[in-house]
Amino acid sequence: MAATGGSKLDMGGRPPRILIVDDEPGILELLRRRLEALGCQVAVLPGGSQVVAYAREHAPDLVLLDVMMPDLDGFAVCQQLKADPKTRDIPVVLMTARTETDSRVRGLELGAHDYVGKPFETAELIARVRAALRVKRLQDELKEANARLARLATSDPLTDLPNRRTFDEQIFAEMERARRSGQTVSVIMLDLDRFKQINDVYGHQVGDDVLRHVARVLAQRRRISDLVARYGGEEFVWVLPGARDRDAVELAEWVRRAVADLGVETPQGPLQVTISAGVTTYDPAEHGPLGATTVLEAADAALREAKASGRNRVIFRAIGPDAEDAGMMHDTVAQERPW
Ligand code: GH3
Ligand code: MG
Ligand code: MG
Repeated sequence: MAATGGSKLDMGGRPPRILIVDDEPGILELLRRRLEALGCQVAVLPGGSQVVAYAREHAPDLVLLDVMMPDLDGFAVCQQLKADPKTRDIPVVLMTARTETDSRVRGLELGAHDYVGKPFETAELIARVRAALRVKRLQDELKEANARLARLATSDPLTDLPNRRTFDEQIFAEMERARRSGQTVSVIMLDLDRFKQINDVYGHQVGDDVLRHVARVLAQRRRISDLVARYGGEEFVWVLPGARDRDAVELAEWVRRAVADLGVETPQGPLQVTISAGVTTYDPAEHGPLGATTVLEAADAALREAKASGRNRVIFRAIGPDAEDAGMMHDTVAQERPW
């Protein structure tokens, strides 16, 4: 076993995918057999012109690439692979009879991971393949960890919705877009009714379950351009670019009914929960330039009114003409409009 490179090659539980490119069929066959014997999934190509298209589609973990080929040489192929974001991180090991230092340097400068001179010792080649795959595996793990961290930083682990921080970042851009395009933006602020009591009576686990169910109702109905987030403990916010007041109120009313119909399973039988919602619509043509805070405050004021007037209802509040100065907090500038 030692002569062919020792233990099996592996990419954290799956076989490594290796692409071998060479215009000599004998080399392709030899390497294919050796690498397959070591547990790799091997594909071969007899020339350089198909490599980038193949790599984009099949995402090999490693490309073993001959330099001297009649159609497109290995340097050019390597350059193409490194120029494409989809294939840039695939390690390339160049194989060539041109062992002079300057062509080695050229290959490495083009982004090749490593270099083997022909004729090569199979054991050495395998050792280099093993090293390149180790780097690729670590790089894949790092990418995955980064994606996981990004998800954790931007979303709420309980409901999987974007968290408050993400919302605060995105609402700014959304308002900016509305101001530039002149489109309306509606905001629905939702809060569970008497949720503290649900926790007290049924326990926190059931409370968490209720939050997940409500989040799912929102997530299933949202459109791609909408911004839905967990805004606070048992409060959610839904931003609807382009929606008019009537559309937003209709949607809030739909959510209210959908939540009331949920019947969340509990050890004590199905539990009925309700929400209250406050709705407002920002119309740049009517209201002029306004900050996100002013618009959110109008929705929040409408939500508090929905609570004060008995809960399990939707209340719309228009943004008043002097909203920015008044902070939307006074009844004199905000007209309520229960639907
Ligand atoms: P109202 O109808 O006026 O909104 O009453 P409420 O009881 O829903 O409102 P209040 O703000 O008094 O209580 C909110 C409760 O939500 C208190 C808090 O323990 C609970 N809560 C906040 N976040 C979570 C969570 O992640 N899980 C659970 N189970 N409860 C939560
Ligand atoms: Mg509440
Ligand atoms: Mg609350």
